[in-house]
Amino acid sequence: MPTIHPKLIEIVIDQTPRAMIAMLIVSSAYAFIFIKYIPLITLTIWFSFQILLAALRFYNIIMFKSCLKKQDSKELKHNRNIFIALNIFQAFMWTTSSILVSIYAPQPFELVSFIMIIGIITAAVLSMSSLYTAYLVFFFSMIIPQMMIMLYYGEHQHISIIIFTIIYIPAILLLSKAILNSRLYSIEVHKKLENKADELHKLSTIDNLTNIYNRGYFFAVSHDLILITTRENKKASLLMIDIDHFKEINDSYGHQTGDFVLKNFAKIINNRIRKSDIFARIGGEEFTILLNYTPIDMAKIIAEELRSMIEESNFIYNDTIIKITISIGIAELNEEHNSIESLYKQADKQLYAAKNYGRNRVCP
Ligand code: GH3
Ligand code: MG
Ligand code: MG
Repeated sequence: MPTIHPKLIEIVIDQTPRAMIAMLIVSSAYAFIFIKYIPLITLTIWFSFQILLAALRFYNIIMFKSCLKKQDSKELKHNRNIFIALNIFQAFMWTTSSILVSIYAPQPFELVSFIMIIGIITAAVLSMSSLYTAYLVFFFSMIIPQMMIMLYYGEHQHISIIIFTIIYIPAILLLSKAILNSRLYSIEVHKKLENKADELHKLSTIDNLTNIYNRGYFFAVSHDLILITTRENKKASLLMIDIDHFKEINDSYGHQTGDFVLKNFAKIINNRIRKSDIFARIGGEEFTILLNYTPIDMAKIIAEELRSMIEESNFIYNDTIIKITISIGIAELNEEHNSIESLYKQADKQLYAAKNYGRNRVCP
């Protein structure tokens, strides 16, 4: 048997409560119509089994939900088999009902029972086509006994009903398959759209060389974070980092080596900072980090640590060891610098000062 798509199980979970309510309504109608003919005790036992079946189907749905949560495919298959078994039991119940009608009720009532069963199989297409094998089992275990009952108990006019059934079988099977295929198709399209949306989100937020946030995303997120931090009366600091004499690396070793250094520089910094810090590439060899809930004294210590870490790092590309240094400007969120734009301007000013004082340093 093919593997079961979790989304198809979700559809079954979604449809089953409605299907069970409908089944109980039809069972009640059946009991109401035939209470005059079928002995009360027989009818009561039959109806009790229908209620038990509905309860078991609900339990089966709860088990399906738990398998989906656990993503346990073995248990999922086991539950699908229980689902099939319950549907065979269901078919047996409706076959019994038809036999009871044939035995106890006057002749034309067989037709009522037959039409009810055709109605049930047709409606079940909606709730069961997602588990196609289960539907096939249910369908044939419903329709074959019906045809046999018609042949056994039926009068000559029942031949036309059997002919109708023979036409009905391929039609309903094709319909069921079409429903399954259209559900599979919409699942596939949905998945593709989700992947595209993820891809677009990544493209719009991530810098494709260094795999850290890009400039646009940095400003958008920082703007919101600063609003929250200010409202909470907490501190935040912004680091502006620029690689010193980076142009010389490109000139001496080539642009590819420059790219390699940028990528690995971002990796080193990313491994050191907290997940809650916003680290982004602003452009070229300029980076920024928003240190949330961090006052400037703490930011200075972190910046100094980053600076010395980079100074001590060896960037080895094609057996060539490359050394770099960085300059860092810091600004603190306060009454004067209370927006990301103003923080950024201030940190950039400090970075400029760090460069002027001779590079490879933190300012202030
Ligand atoms: P300073 O110490 O004053 O910052 O000197 P610098 O050479 O680092 O600064 P400058 O702004 O003069 O040069 C930055 C260089 O960064 C120039 C550019 O070729 C290089 N660059 C910018 N983006 C990239 C990139 O994506 N890849 C590579 N390999 N180089 C880049
Ligand atoms: Mg530079
Ligand atoms: Mg620069």
